[in-house]
Amino acid sequence: MPVNTAVYQSIKKELSLTNTRLIAVSKTKPLGDLQEMYDLGQRDFGENYVQELVDKQAALPKDINWHFIGHLQSNKVKYIAPFVHLIHGVDGLKLLQEINKQAAKNNRVIDCLLQIHIAQEETKFGLNEKELTELQPYIDQLKNVRICGLMGMASFTEDQLQLESEFKSLKSIAEKFKSIFGSISTVHRLPSMILSMGMSSDYQLAIQNGSNMVRIGSLLFGARK
Ligand SMILES: *Cc1c(COP(=O)(O)O)cnc(C)c1O
Repeated sequence: MPVNTAVYQSIKKELSLTNTRLIAVSKTKPLGDLQEMYDLGQRDFGENYVQELVDKQAALPKDINWHFIGHLQSNKVKYIAPFVHLIHGVDGLKLLQEINKQAAKNNRVIDCLLQIHIAQEETKFGLNEKELTELQPYIDQLKNVRICGLMGMASFTEDQLQLESEFKSLKSIAEKFKSIFGSISTVHRLPSMILSMGMSSDYQLAIQNGSNMVRIGSLLFGARK
């Protein structure tokens, strides 16, 4: 299925009004689809699986910003550390320490977002406020990671009020923990505090509630199998 050019253009235009960054979520999609999106001007792509990301990075243009948005296992950090642009789903000290170690090996500072659990479902990953508080003192010691903001996934629901309250909670946690975010972000064109929230079905509501980075897949590339 080809990329939906008209939808892409209209989303880009819509997002430009609020200076919101678009991450095109290309997991499971073939290289041709990503190249097509690249040719339209898209440079930020999001992937969930390490092996798939590594293969795509090797095959596609080198100026793509690769975002890892899935659940990252510590033993796989080394494969993406040389090139990853932003890791969205960091939810523990052990993972953060491993990212720091692999970043140092590659002589770089890796930008990360801490994932916060905002949904009602038990299954979604992420930290709660208490865990975030406990993590706080360690963050300064990790010289090769920079925490640029927070990421959250809302509940799988059509209840707009529920979604809204979850987005608002992420925004308010971000405000509360502002001091942990590194001041110089290499993620250009963005404020120093990134709030990555909103997907195909709820990105407009997410932006209304403070998102400045949305992760959109199926609207752009068509439904996944
Ligand atoms: C798959 C995925 C998305 C994109 O979902 P769509 O509904 O296709 O827009 C966004 N964020 C995360 C973390 C994902 O895994």
